[in-house]
Amino acid sequence: MVPLICIFCKYVEYIEFDLDLHLYQNHRIDLVKLPIGKGSLETRINYAIEEGRRVGINLRNLNKEAKHKLGFEYIIS
Ligand SMILES: [Zn+2]
Repeated sequence: MVPLICIFCKYVEYIEFDLDLHLYQNHRIDLVKLPIGKGSLETRINYAIEEGRRVGINLRNLNKEAKHKLGFEYIIS
């Protein structure tokens, strides 16, 4: 399973719906500040989720040491 990382606070979620909820509840202001031009909150949440998925895929591919350095040692390859 690909971990989905919250791009604002490093929170890790595996279920897209739960990250959506996390973003909505905790990062409305951060979402508005995203440099992606005009867009609804939903568009912004989707953008943040896709970025978080990209980060998650990259993190998963790191070796154990690199994960540890970044504080994501619990993410399994
Ligand atoms: Zn967060």
